[in-house]
Amino acid sequence: MGSVKPFIFGNVRRLLKGLGYKKLPLIAGHKLLYACNLRCKMCPFWRRKDEVLLSIDEEVKIMNVLKDSGVLFMGFEGGEPFLRKDIGDILMESSKRFYTSVVSNGWLLKDRVKEIEDYVDHVFVSLDGIGDVHDNIRGVRGSFDRAVSSIKECKSRGLNTSISFTLTKDNLNQVLDVVYLAKKIGITINIDVAYDYSTAERLSPERSELKAVLEALMRLKDSKEYRSVIINSKDYFISILNSWYGNIPWVCKPWITINIDPQGRIVLPCYTLSEYSGNKRVWEVNVIKLWQEYNWEKYYSCNKCALSCYLEPSLFSWKNPTLVRERIIEPMINILENNV
Ligand code: SF4
Ligand code: SF4
Repeated sequence: MGSVKPFIFGNVRRLLKGLGYKKLPLIAGHKLLYACNLRCKMCPFWRRKDEVLLSIDEEVKIMNVLKDSGVLFMGFEGGEPFLRKDIGDILMESSKRFYTSVVSNGWLLKDRVKEIEDYVDHVFVSLDGIGDVHDNIRGVRGSFDRAVSSIKECKSRGLNTSISFTLTKDNLNQVLDVVYLAKKIGITINIDVAYDYSTAERLSPERSELKAVLEALMRLKDSKEYRSVIINSKDYFISILNSWYGNIPWVCKPWITINIDPQGRIVLPCYTLSEYSGNKRVWEVNVIKLWQEYNWEKYYSCNKCALSCYLEPSLFSWKNPTLVRERIIEPMINILENNV
């Protein structure tokens, strides 16, 4: 587990900085590499060539800039982060500064949990169906069994562990089974809707078929039994239903999340629209100044993707007591319980 200290100090630091600036990034998503040992149909990343990866010193340089720019939550992703030999060192540095999470496909994770368990606050393992359905989407046989073994290993070591599920046209009928599996194992699940990247197979679900599944998930989220199993807020499902089926858009605020590609470049305004083509390196720009000057307003009406890393923070409001409980109070209690 990471330390509670950076989180508390970070909050105070951000609060003070926030007095002077209208917009500061709160969450960072950093792809450590594009390489992956799986071959997911809908994924553009394993198809891309990694250039030279950043050194640990450069990773620390990025973290320091992000910390000074107000970031509190750092999420590492890929490609597959556990293909990096220095993942333990990277997470250790991150845990000194941020609430730290990592997402993995679970193939290598089981044997490497020991390297990271002291430095990570939340582990996400991707699971897109049961058995063959997962294996077919992931493109490698055996990936379901390895992912579940990794999940169980993380759970047995006391790590805060969640399934990350992406709704595609190939697994719409499996999401409820994976929610039930999460409950059975005693972990949580976060659900996303697949987005069609131009360089990958188009696997996003038919909107007509997606609606009933979103409604079913919303009902589960409403139930006492599954409320805390599903990480997504009820508002997440309501917003997609309202926008995509009712013409009532949400206001997208991509500035809350800063995304960084494997070469340390910031992806603007969001990785969906830029398809992960970054331009400015984190340490070459004044992030705070860039955040005040960028034309974010242009994207307020964009409801193109429903990626939870953008949509959930966009929905947050201090005036919504349910979201305050789900997004602030419960995570705070969780952090304190795990660290004090
Ligand atoms: S495991 Fe993740 S990075 Fe790897 S191919 Fe699948 S979606 Fe892409
Ligand atoms: S809704 Fe549009 S602006 Fe917002 S994250 Fe998705 S693609 Fe980007």
